[in-house]
Amino acid sequence: MNERHQVAIAGMGLAALTTAARLTELGITEIALYANGFGGTPYIAAINFVLPDNPYGDTPEQYCEDMIHAGYEIGNRELVQDMARHTVEGYELLRRWGVTFAHNADGSIKLRHVSGHTYPRSLCQTTELIGEEIMKVMLPKLEAAGVKIYRNCQVVDLLTEQGAVAGMTVREQGKLRQVYAPVVVAAWGGAGNLLGKSTYPGDIQGNTLGMAKKAGAEMVDMEFMEFEPLVILDPPGAAGEPSPTAMLGEGGYLRNAEGERFLLRVRPQGEAGASKSLINREAWKEVQAGKGSPHGGVYLDLRHVDRAVLKSYPWFFDRLMHSGCDPNEQQLEIGPMVHSFSGGIQVNLDYASNVPGLYAVGEACGGIHGACRCAGNAGSQAALSGMLCAEGIARNGVPEKAPQEQPVTYREDLAARERLLPKVREIGAGALGIYRSGKELAAAGEALDALLQSGELRADSFTEQSALSIRMILQAALNRRESRGTHNRLDYPEMDPAYEREFTI
Ligand SMILES: Cc1cc2nc3c(=O)[nH]c(=O)nc-3n(C[C@H](O)[C@H](O)[C@H](O)COP(=O)(O)OP(=O)(O)OC[C@H]3O[C@@H](n4cnc5c(N)ncnc54)[C@H](O)[C@@H]3O)c2cc1C
Repeated sequence: MNERHQVAIAGMGLAALTTAARLTELGITEIALYANGFGGTPYIAAINFVLPDNPYGDTPEQYCEDMIHAGYEIGNRELVQDMARHTVEGYELLRRWGVTFAHNADGSIKLRHVSGHTYPRSLCQTTELIGEEIMKVMLPKLEAAGVKIYRNCQVVDLLTEQGAVAGMTVREQGKLRQVYAPVVVAAWGGAGNLLGKSTYPGDIQGNTLGMAKKAGAEMVDMEFMEFEPLVILDPPGAAGEPSPTAMLGEGGYLRNAEGERFLLRVRPQGEAGASKSLINREAWKEVQAGKGSPHGGVYLDLRHVDRAVLKSYPWFFDRLMHSGCDPNEQQLEIGPMVHSFSGGIQVNLDYASNVPGLYAVGEACGGIHGACRCAGNAGSQAALSGMLCAEGIARNGVPEKAPQEQPVTYREDLAARERLLPKVREIGAGALGIYRSGKELAAAGEALDALLQSGELRADSFTEQSALSIRMILQAALNRRESRGTHNRLDYPEMDPAYEREFTI
């Protein structure tokens, strides 16, 4: 049976939840979420909001400037200003739907200082990840409010009718069916595992970028793939676990193999608050200079950090201890890994795309983080974009004309996928590392074009969408003939000094 809804949301991460929550508050009914997992949301440790009683004198204006600056002046200022202006409302929305945050002994809200921010403004939980708490409290409340949640449903295609969105094709237990809705919200997260291994769970596959493009959506900032800088490389039991960048705010040091705090050479004020791209760049230089760790990274030194502080990050501390690594006893070997995606569907202040009826929220949309995302801002952007998108949908109205039925055109050929997808990924991953060269980007683009034009990929829509996603990223990376933020070009290695300024705390 094909379902019909007023608003169909692809995803059930934080951006989807706040979209549905605010739509419900605004009296819009017949909302449905379709997803095949929880995405990055359960892993969110830090989420930023500037609250009126911030003890450091923080302001939404300062928050906005931090985002623009950390994004190397590339973020869409209107979107960033709007997000900063509504920061308190985003926090209040989460509170209304039952989310709680950790407090200090004096009753004030606990604030952490994470990468890229002038002031501590990151809210958290100290007994579990705040993302887990969000999922646990919001999902049942939304269901109780009448929102339909279709778990184990993968959205495999977007439907359009005369240029406007008309619904989506979903896959559940191997069967494909159509879902019709005059408003579709892409809340499917970022690019995650598009190129292979990343910090993201398996449900974030990145083919969704190609899906949006095929539906006619304009994309933005596609070259800006974040690399998480402090991912554990060893011991094997903890490998892949991202150390929170808040560890640097808690007093952690970054050292090379000679024990030198190398970041101080370019950032004398210390490691706390350093942007992720600066850490990645400087660590890469240490490795190139032969001062890296045995697994090709550098060291995070937490030996002097108070044990009680380390224990207030239980998911991290416990995983290290269970792997036989005591962070008060030994340095941690860390390195970069593909992480969040700052590009995506281009949106306006209502989070509407150029395709009528298609909205995009959270990591699915681009334009906010620019060339480098402040830590803890993916969560706040997901929460706020969902809220603002719902208000935009309510303002613009849900089109009354019901979409017409149409046949499923999505194609599946698992044998072709098994043969071709690894090839497609390898082409992308080879050219899209932290350091990129124009020659390699161009060659990878040509290799993918050859595959796309050969018609071979048409047998399997998922593989074709993935190839299209990678092709867009390659082209954007080739077009940006400079090093900026997370995008480093070996053939244009010098970053404009105007972008090198780092924050003083
Ligand atoms: C290990 C880790 C740690 C992180 N730590 C932080 C942090 O501390 N602070 C911070 O701000 N950010 C952090 N992030 C980033 C953050 O998790 C994401 O940016 C954020 O969750 C984005 O929210 P979202 O709702 O847009 O997407 P997600 O939370 O990724 O949710 C996407 C949803 O879409 C679904 N989906 C995907 N594809 C499809 C499809 N084809 N069909 C149907 N459903 C689909 C997924 O199953 C999921 O339900 C972290 C990420 C990871 C992986």
